Amino acid sequence: MDDMTGLELSPRKIEYIKYLFEKGDNVRTTEISAHMEVDPSTITKAINELASSGYVNHVPYRGFSLTEKGEEYAHFLLRRHRILSLMLNHYGLTAEESCAEVARFEAYVSKKAINTICDSMGHPTFGVCGRIEHDSCNLKHNHHEPHEG
Ligand SMILES: [Zn+2]
Ligand SMILES: [Zn+2]
Repeated sequence: MDDMTGLELSPRKIEYIKYLFEKGDNVRTTEISAHMEVDPSTITKAINELASSGYVNHVPYRGFSLTEKGEEYAHFLLRRHRILSLMLNHYGLTAEESCAEVARFEAYVSKKAINTICDSMGHPTFGVCGRIEHDSCNLKHNHHEPHEG
């Protein structure tokens, strides 16, 4: 997924991916529906779209889970959320305010921008709402560069 821009999914679909990532395997439509307070038929439609784009597996009678591509995307989504909320927190918002503000616009910030911000922040390990993993940023390309530290 090196060609991923980070702008592939709508805010709503991002919520589905994050939820499936948290819940693990065999998540049922009814669970998603209760969590999101959305009609099950709306969920089914969105999840089917995610399945046809390769993010989600559907095992009949068992439920939904993320594919490898979906999991990789989920890691990026968490990093994007945490980098952006850390940034707002740094400029004076509380942790809760930062998370809430970021949730409203995170879907529209590209992976390229996040990688640049991540790099300029020094790839922080702790965000305001959890650990930040850097597997999905370009960190591996920087290991051999001498200007580190
Ligand atoms: Zn947060
Ligand atoms: Zn990073």
